[in-house]
Amino acid sequence: MFSCFARIGIMALVMSSINTSHGSEYTSSDNAHVHGLSTLTIVAEQNTLKIELHSPSVDIIGFEHKATSASDIAQLDKAVITLRQHNALFNIQGTHCLHVNTVVAVPPSVASLDEGDTLHHHDELNITSDHHDGHSEMIASYVFQCHDMTKLLSIEVKMFEVFSGMKDINTMWVTQAQQGATRLTPDQPMIVFK
Ligand SMILES: [Zn+2]
Repeated sequence: MFSCFARIGIMALVMSSINTSHGSEYTSSDNAHVHGLSTLTIVAEQNTLKIELHSPSVDIIGFEHKATSASDIAQLDKAVITLRQHNALFNIQGTHCLHVNTVVAVPPSVASLDEGDTLHHHDELNITSDHHDGHSEMIASYVFQCHDMTKLLSIEVKMFEVFSGMKDINTMWVTQAQQGATRLTPDQPMIVFK
C-alpha cells in the first residue's frame, strides 16, 4: 500500500528538484550521471503541468567540455533552441495544455564566454554553477496550463528523435490521483498516467 506520506515524499522530492532549476544554484547531486541516461520528473497539480529534464550534456550537445570551437558553439546553440521547442518534444494527450514557460539551464563547464553573452539575450536561460567533476548536466524545465488535468492520459516524449545520444529516460510522475515511474526508450517513449 502506498501511504500518503510516501506520495508526499515523492512529491516533495519532485518539487524540490523542479524548484532548484529556477534558481542560480546548481544543486543536483548528479550521483547517477550515466551517459545515455536522462531523468524526467513530471508533476501535475491542479491544472499546472511541470516537466523537468536532467540530461548529461554529452547526450544533448555531444560533449561536456567548454564550447570553444565554432562547431561546439553552434552545436550548443542548436541544442538550446531544440530544447525550447516543446511542441516537438512532448505530445500531451487527453487534455489541451497551453505552454506557459520554459527554462533551459546550461552548465558553465560547457557554456563559452561568447556563448554566455549570446545566451544572455534569451529571456529564460540560466547559466548554472558547476560540479568540477568532469561531467556536466543540462536541465530544461517546462510549465503548461492544462484545460482539465483529470483527463490527462499520456505524454509521448519525442526527445529520442532529436537527441541521438539519449538512450533511456527514467521518468517519475505525480498527479493528484496517482504516481508512477516509467523507463522510456526509443521503442517505448510513452508515459501513461494510470
Ligand atoms: Zn558526463
